[in-house]
Amino acid sequence: MQPTPGLDAKLHQWFDDHADDVVKLAQDLISIPSVNPKFNPEESPYGEANVQEYIADYLHRLGMDPVLYAASDDRLNLHTPLNPEADRTIAFNGHVDVVPAGDERSWSFPPFSGALSNGRIYGRGAMDMKGGIASALLALRALHDTGFEIDGKVGMHTVVDEEAGGFGTRDLLSRMKFAPDGVIVGEPSNEEIQIAAGGLDWVRVTIRGRSGHAGWRFAEIYPQPFESPERDAGTSINAIDLASNFLQAVNGLERQWSATKVHPLLPPGITTISPGVIRGGSGLDGQGLPTLFNNPAVIPDSVAIDFDLKFIPGDDDSVRAEFEDFVSTWAKQHYWTANNPPLVKWEVADLRFPSMDTPFDDSLVTALSQSVEASGSAPQVTGFPAVADSAFYAAAGSAAVIYGPQGGGIHGPDEWVSIDSLKRVSRNLSLAALAYLDGR
Ligand SMILES: [Zn+2]
Repeated sequence: MQPTPGLDAKLHQWFDDHADDVVKLAQDLISIPSVNPKFNPEESPYGEANVQEYIADYLHRLGMDPVLYAASDDRLNLHTPLNPEADRTIAFNGHVDVVPAGDERSWSFPPFSGALSNGRIYGRGAMDMKGGIASALLALRALHDTGFEIDGKVGMHTVVDEEAGGFGTRDLLSRMKFAPDGVIVGEPSNEEIQIAAGGLDWVRVTIRGRSGHAGWRFAEIYPQPFESPERDAGTSINAIDLASNFLQAVNGLERQWSATKVHPLLPPGITTISPGVIRGGSGLDGQGLPTLFNNPAVIPDSVAIDFDLKFIPGDDDSVRAEFEDFVSTWAKQHYWTANNPPLVKWEVADLRFPSMDTPFDDSLVTALSQSVEASGSAPQVTGFPAVADSAFYAAAGSAAVIYGPQGGGIHGPDEWVSIDSLKRVSRNLSLAALAYLDGR
């Protein structure tokens, strides 16, 4: 690999002169509303595209060659092609969609204003994650202006639809001929270098019972004389009762996992199995969901529970079998469920995030740590407790890290990002890309 002597010093000088430019860049991005249309179909469907066109213009001016294409529902993803001949490639990733602003009266500044106050930029997306995108764009400009030949060695990936499940990045990676060797996802990490994250599955468990008239439930609750009409009538199996028992068993499994499934960079108890949506009623429709009852006189014969199930790195290939074993063991405890076992359906709403576990000594982690140190801060290498698009790069074989600015109010009112933090992140992204590509 070609060393680039002197470029580090040039980059430091460039940022001493130009770091403030990140402010207008972040403000411009924030002031283009780009609420994910899945949250609110009444939002303009073009918000994301407007942001992408702004980014494409910026990259064109750096001599880069951004490609815009429709990922789904005419929503535009952007990437700059990577050079297949390069010894090494790195990409910066960011999502252009934001969550809705919510009640604007609870904001101190209009949510798409990009208002400046006390060293902060306010607005929906300031922290999550237009600040991170602004830092990456300025890092690219710094590389360009100091004479570094970008030439497909450094790429920019800005995607739609992260907030509703990561579908933009998934689509982008599925269309690329090869994944970058390294990727830095600019989600707000409080300037920590986050190298590990658990995976996430959405799983639906459907429990079947037998319907009947609630008036005869007494015959199931209290033993009736043999050969009596009451005894014959009381043969329903209330699926909500079964589901309630199942949920308690899942709580037990969750406690067991919290004690046995651990990762050094992730908080204890990260392997949660959270019941998120529950529906009880009659039969199953074409989607596999019960027809909802509004009349409690009918004993329900089906319940579908959707769980948000987190797993630690290393369990990607085993967690589903483990959960299914648990369900079948539970089912064997009752004659009815033993003969009518629950159905388990994975990838509800097509959602699954693989885990990420980039080695501590990977050269991308080293490059970023040393850049942070060279800028006068102590690098902190940690894990990320939620899930992010970095997971899809990790699964595609890239060394992936999450590194982004400090801020607050994420997904709430008065979201903000620190200007000093944006400047540091931008400088460190450019230094890290340079060091990584040099193989230092
Ligand atoms: Zn985000």
